[in-house]
Amino acid sequence: MSITENVAAIRARIEAAAVESGRTGADITLVAATKMNDASRVREAVAAGVDVCGENRVQELLEKNEQHAYDGAPLHFIGHLQTNKVKYLVGLAELIQSVDSEALLREIEKRASKLDLTQNVLIEVNIGGEEAKSGVAPEQLDALLRFAGTCPHVRVCGLMAIPPISVEKGGNHAYFCRMKELFVDIGRKKYNNVNMQFLSMGMSDDFEDAIRCGANMVRVGSSIFGARNYAAASVQKSE
Ligand SMILES: *Cc1c(COP(=O)(O)O)cnc(C)c1O
Repeated sequence: MSITENVAAIRARIEAAAVESGRTGADITLVAATKMNDASRVREAVAAGVDVCGENRVQELLEKNEQHAYDGAPLHFIGHLQTNKVKYLVGLAELIQSVDSEALLREIEKRASKLDLTQNVLIEVNIGGEEAKSGVAPEQLDALLRFAGTCPHVRVCGLMAIPPISVEKGGNHAYFCRMKELFVDIGRKKYNNVNMQFLSMGMSDDFEDAIRCGANMVRVGSSIFGARNYAAASVQKSE
């Protein structure tokens, strides 16, 4: 199957899951998770009509951006973000999906203010309470959103989550539903600079389940591009 065929097949599955939850495929933003795929493959996905390119590593994003890999689609950052890399992303990434600390918000505010622009972000929630995972704990989400309200050059546009790796199908249903509850709860409260527009959750193995639970943005990698070759990548890196 080509990338183009894969994207068409995913669109059809998105459409069906959206209809099950009283929406249509047009309500769902398809982010292609482009990590470890080179510029020509990313261009193919853009040509196939993915809505967004989502990149994980800043260095890789900058390299592929130089190669015009993302031309024609908005670019999101979806990977773990270090404070010292923020400066490369502000103003370049339309949406930074993985913000989970005051330190990151403070740095984004500083950089966006310098460039006199407003940076859109999502707050990443560690919905599975996993120790090694990025994301703010659900109990600390309110405090972080209140802090975001003090950052005039940052706009929080929603929430993102990467639930635990699930062995069985539907295994993350409860986490997805919990995220939807948080999304709705926060939407009812009135925080400065916060507008709950996007709920970004669901990947190749579980995007339909996420959509049924209320996701309106899914991040799909291997189902578009095929399995990633981590072995080849680590050889490259160590060279
Ligand atoms: C890689 C990645 C995805 C997509 O994962 P697949 O299982 O390949 O679809 C989604 N979100 C994030 C943050 C990722 O790093």
